[in-house]
Amino acid sequence: VEQYLRNIKERAELNAFLEVFEEEALAQADAVDQKLANGTAGKLAGMVIGIKDVLAYKGHSLQASSQILNNFKSLYNASAVQRLLDEDAIIIGRQNCDEFAMGASNESSAFGNVLNADDHTRVPGGSSGGSAVAVQADLCLASIGSDTGGSVRQPAAFCGVIGMKPTYSRISRFGLIAYASSFDQIGFITKSVEDAALLLEVVAGKDEMDSTASQREVPPYSQLLTSDKKYKIGYIRDCFEREGLDTEVKDAILGVKDMLRDAGHEVEAVEFPYLDYMVPTYYILTTAEASSNLGRYDGVRYGYRSDNVTDLTSLYKKTRAEGFGHEVQRRIMLGTFVLSADYYDAYYTKAQKVRRLIKEKTDELLQAYDFLILPTAPSTAFKIGENTANPLAMYLADIFTVQASLAGVPAISIPVGRDANGLSIGLQLMTRSFEEPALLAFSNYIL
Ligand code: GLN
Repeated sequence: VEQYLRNIKERAELNAFLEVFEEEALAQADAVDQKLANGTAGKLAGMVIGIKDVLAYKGHSLQASSQILNNFKSLYNASAVQRLLDEDAIIIGRQNCDEFAMGASNESSAFGNVLNADDHTRVPGGSSGGSAVAVQADLCLASIGSDTGGSVRQPAAFCGVIGMKPTYSRISRFGLIAYASSFDQIGFITKSVEDAALLLEVVAGKDEMDSTASQREVPPYSQLLTSDKKYKIGYIRDCFEREGLDTEVKDAILGVKDMLRDAGHEVEAVEFPYLDYMVPTYYILTTAEASSNLGRYDGVRYGYRSDNVTDLTSLYKKTRAEGFGHEVQRRIMLGTFVLSADYYDAYYTKAQKVRRLIKEKTDELLQAYDFLILPTAPSTAFKIGENTANPLAMYLADIFTVQASLAGVPAISIPVGRDANGLSIGLQLMTRSFEEPALLAFSNYIL
């Protein structure tokens, strides 16, 4: 803990942490020492973890990197956080992210950019940018974040670490600030597959506080990490033929594909006809859900309240105008529009139908193939400011991560190389729902 605290201070310019729980983490470490001495320590004894600022940690500030939650403190622990603590993990701090987890570069945080530790002029990815950089720069051993459309996988790819999003419903969302509830899933950023497996094992499973959490038994993931099976692997041909896909990223992923074929796995190109519909469908549905989920920040119930107000309506308006940043406001407006009476069928209902098609096609492919491989992102970490003037370009860069989120299947990003600038390249693997054991074992094998 002392070493990580020193690292955090020395690398303060990265802006990965919004708050460091110095005294508390040291006290937790002492308590773990005692438990280790008397043989009562839990599975995560001494694992130093950072939490993205969207997870409730009792008695601590929680603000989704937004001004609208200024001065808000959690009254309870998220179930995931509680389970980490129950197994003696040490929580070292609260990590910077895009405001309400909306973004892919950590540039929408109300508390400033996070810098990629490999190149300070570049973004760390997002929305879990602080969480990825914290692991990249050894500011903690592992981070726990959230992934709605790539927020764990894409920053992991940009920072050269591992990012895993389990099957939708595998982990309770109780105490996770909602962005788009039918997509949101807690995930992990780590340096090893073993750590991801161990964290999943501790955090997954049924929860009486979240009726959408799966009742399925939780396998002992950390003991299922070896695999000598020969798999059937599909790669979506259209993904690799897309304009805008960086050639170095493409070559790295295709290189792994060839390596797998040489190693005796069956590798085939597959067709996926819905690639162009992925990003529009994702953004119609997530903004719709977000506009509803963020209705609760009204200046009355939580955090920030504007003080120059005259009546209730102006209280709502001013609080929300001052408290939310531009990206969040844009998404609330988009979501409100697609849910409005005149446009509901044309956009929202249509997008629900397309989501169903995407899910069915993805599941069908995953019946025929054990894994689908594709890049995590079309490029390596881009320059800070490069995409801020063009939100559409930023949204389109989510093209490869949103498929797993629309389909609810598990996916992981693992580092498989670097480009000529020394920036990390992430390979993404998807598999069938609840097949995390195979996903983790196969990732371990590739690495
Ligand atoms: N970049 C995507 C978005 O902005 C993903 C964010 C996320 O997974 N939370 O919606």
